[in-house]
Amino acid sequence: MVDSHCHIAGQEFAGDLEDVVARARAAGLEGALTILAADDDLELRQASIVQRLWPEVRFSIGIHPHAAGKFAESPEGAATAVESAIASQPATRAVGEVGLDYHYDFAPRDAQHAVFRAQIALARRRRLPIVIHTREAEDDTFAILAEAQAGEVPVVFHCFTGSTATARRVLDAGYDLSLAGIVTFPRATELKEVAAFVPLDRLLIETDSPYLAPVPHRGKRNEPAHVALVADHVASLRGDTPERIRAATTATFRRIFNP
Ligand SMILES: [Zn+2]
Ligand SMILES: [Zn+2]
Repeated sequence: MVDSHCHIAGQEFAGDLEDVVARARAAGLEGALTILAADDDLELRQASIVQRLWPEVRFSIGIHPHAAGKFAESPEGAATAVESAIASQPATRAVGEVGLDYHYDFAPRDAQHAVFRAQIALARRRRLPIVIHTREAEDDTFAILAEAQAGEVPVVFHCFTGSTATARRVLDAGYDLSLAGIVTFPRATELKEVAAFVPLDRLLIETDSPYLAPVPHRGKRNEPAHVALVADHVASLRGDTPERIRAATTATFRRIFNP
């Protein structure tokens, strides 16, 4: 089993990373994709400690839409920052998380668009898969991905929270999607339908640690070991076994990220 999206190089884990990794291994995880923010020097430095404690970890580096405002004057600068972070972290296997967030709108939308486009171009140049963050911005996300020909490389919608119709749109475009602990929340009825519907070879599971802890850890710091709870829940929704969900999502992870 693999946690396909977590932020364990963040400061929330600096104090007890060794224990977090030990619990992940004990839960049966063979690896994780750790997201790094290219504009966060502390996190980029911490990545080498993550790598030393957990050599199977791979990285995805990007400028989050929340930070797009920093590059409003020169969106290309976002791609340059990501590229230089990739150069210093050889275990990088993806560009992300990148995309659009209209829920918070922390950055002006035109800056979000330009920074997103610049990073799609970088991913295509480097032949790296793209990890997408999109919130209340589905139409523009699909439009930019199509215009920028992102489909030349694998594209993953991380922490997918949309309807079955949106999931179908993701799959029809040739993209894959990843479910986080939200799927375990009792009121996430639409998302439970999505979990039962997505073909296993298009499905990933993640924690998005330290955020979004699944039931019964809601409200606490999340960690990669809890991806097992996501796998169990997806299995019960599909009438399948946790073992099959673990194996299938790991195979999907390998196909996409070539870890
Ligand atoms: Zn995200
Ligand atoms: Zn994230």
